[in-house]
Amino acid sequence: MDKQQEYVLRSVEERDIRFIRLWFTDVLGILKSVAIAPAELENAFAEGIGFDGSAVEGLTRVYEADMLAIPDPTTYQVLPWRGDRQGAARMFCDIHLPDGEAALSDPRQVLKRTLDKASEQGFTFYTHPEIEFYLFKPLEEGKLPRPVDQAGYFDNVPRGTAHEFRRTAITTLEEMGISVEFSHHEAGPGQNEIDLRYADALTTADNIMTFRTAIKEVALEQGLYASFMPKPLANAPGSGMHTHLSLFEGDRNAFHDPAAEFGLSTVARQFMAGLLAHAPEITAVTNQHVNSYKRLWGGAEAPSYVCWGSNNRSALVRIPIHKPTKGQSARVEYRAIDSAANPYLAFSVILAAGLKGIKEGYELPDGAEDDVWELSAAERKAMGYEPLPSSLAEAVGVMEKSELVAETLGESVFDFFLRNKREEWTAYRSQVTPFELERYLGVL
Ligand code: GLN
Ligand code: MG
Ligand code: MG
Ligand code: MG
Repeated sequence: MDKQQEYVLRSVEERDIRFIRLWFTDVLGILKSVAIAPAELENAFAEGIGFDGSAVEGLTRVYEADMLAIPDPTTYQVLPWRGDRQGAARMFCDIHLPDGEAALSDPRQVLKRTLDKASEQGFTFYTHPEIEFYLFKPLEEGKLPRPVDQAGYFDNVPRGTAHEFRRTAITTLEEMGISVEFSHHEAGPGQNEIDLRYADALTTADNIMTFRTAIKEVALEQGLYASFMPKPLANAPGSGMHTHLSLFEGDRNAFHDPAAEFGLSTVARQFMAGLLAHAPEITAVTNQHVNSYKRLWGGAEAPSYVCWGSNNRSALVRIPIHKPTKGQSARVEYRAIDSAANPYLAFSVILAAGLKGIKEGYELPDGAEDDVWELSAAERKAMGYEPLPSSLAEAVGVMEKSELVAETLGESVFDFFLRNKREEWTAYRSQVTPFELERYLGVL
């Protein structure tokens, strides 16, 4: 047993933890959990805990249904919403086959493999997500969701619901070792944003999964409902998860070059060029639902066209202003990804696109200075700003031809994902919506 594992055993004993939840994520980004008793812990570290993988979306083919969850002791945390005594703790797991091989279909290991590729090129990948979500009053079946307030961007609502909520939510996150950098009311009614401090991409992805659960727990405690749905209200902004990206070589930020334009190195420019060149084919992964495209094409600062700009909020890739003296904070922001993405898979395809740009020395096109939504279609075409896919069907169509995505996700995740998303589209297409009834029934 290693030191980390010993630490977990000791903490479980000292804090009188009753349940240890083993967490992992399915291909669609849903958190799974199996609870074990403290007495099982040593065995879980040594051999893993067996479960039926065929019941989990995308994890196995039926003939390899037996899977093992092996907890990662570095991710051990007590769950603050379960009380201090006789409480629960969690660890993220890696999924293995019974013969001990890593499961190719485990999203956490898809990201680990991609991070290994980055490290072969000499890089560590850091991410910092801005997570947007809505707070609603308790949901009522058949009714539209009702936001908890009518406030807007950066509004300070003294002792308002959202204010109280963010306070408790952030305390809870910090108790779990997740540092929060900013939080504020967002533009939509009941919409909030919480930004996590940057960390290596695996830690960030684990943190995002924890974040979603913690936010939902805190909301329920306060009699509210939190939703990460990309576009829950037709006439209000969607919930994005803009992510700031940087590569480090050792402790040096490889995106920083004080002498270059915007303080961005050639490596950063090539990475951005990779993001732009491969953006359409990775969009099904960063924006995985039918509903995601209502956000991407619904205005309100969501990006619809492939271009970059310095401090341009209509661009897909934005360079946030950073002080030249703060070289370590040089970074680029990818703005398509939404709050319902599987963070392990989304970070994998984003990283793979950027690395490809570096490896092949892609040339960065000129930046966009104007608001690209204001341009005419002809102007955008002349300037080379391609649209992102406008629907899940289109995104899946581009993804299925992508070598980059196939290689990054691995065959089993790639196939499962495409199959699942085609099914989602088919189910959606077969609906007759209130929009159609209203528009056609009375006049046709
Ligand atoms: N909600 C917007 C989006 O969907 C972002 C708004 C902002 O943070 N500037 O991307
Ligand atoms: Mg923000
Ligand atoms: Mg925001
Ligand atoms: Mg942003």
